[in-house]
Amino acid sequence: RENSLEVEQLKQNLAQTKQESLTDQLTKLGNRKHFDIELDKAVGRSNKDGSPLCLIMADIDHFKAFNDTWGHQTGDQVLRLVSACIKNDVRESDVSARYGGEEFVLILPDTSLKEAQSIADQVRQTVQSKKVMKRSTGQDLGTITISLGVAQYRKGEEHPKLIDRADECLYAAKEDGRNCVVVEQPTVKSKKTG
Ligand code: GH3
Ligand code: MG
Ligand code: MG
Repeated sequence: RENSLEVEQLKQNLAQTKQESLTDQLTKLGNRKHFDIELDKAVGRSNKDGSPLCLIMADIDHFKAFNDTWGHQTGDQVLRLVSACIKNDVRESDVSARYGGEEFVLILPDTSLKEAQSIADQVRQTVQSKKVMKRSTGQDLGTITISLGVAQYRKGEEHPKLIDRADECLYAAKEDGRNCVVVEQPTVKSKKTG
């Protein structure tokens, strides 16, 4: 009996360790490893059943300046705030993760480019609507914004290509003045002639 209790405890510890190894400790979102595993699964499903799959890359605007002005602890608070907004706006079937630094990624299975665009814009608006306050002093630090890029998986492609396209759109959103969403151009289908 004691042995089985011990085994149960070990199983629980193992599950917790596994969970922790896939979680970003600052934001409690999935980490990069979690993202890689889930994207692999989502791409597999999309290739198998032809369901649409989209990816959103998001990046906090002018975050270096924010850190330089208010300090890294307050910067960390902002990372948590953005993560909470993302968690709030994604559906249960979506996967959200911290891609690295101040960049986030969302995997949206069974989602068209149009739907993905609207989710991206929702997250953008949610982040913009929050007032940031310095916790230690209660000082009003105004608002922060994020830029987002959206791309759709193309059947059979390697997934780094999907990440690259979402990244290019994110870059375009930055070029466009930030605090906006850029969606990739839908693939051109061959036209019927005659
Ligand atoms: P852009 O709008 O073009 O994205 O400008 P940016 O300043 O956000 O981009 P840049 O790549 O120059 O700076 C990213 C900053 O993100 C710099 C770095 O200090 C900050 N950062 C990355 N990870 C963390 C973190 O874990 N905590 C804090 N506080 N800051 C972080
Ligand atoms: Mg960045
Ligand atoms: Mg940034």
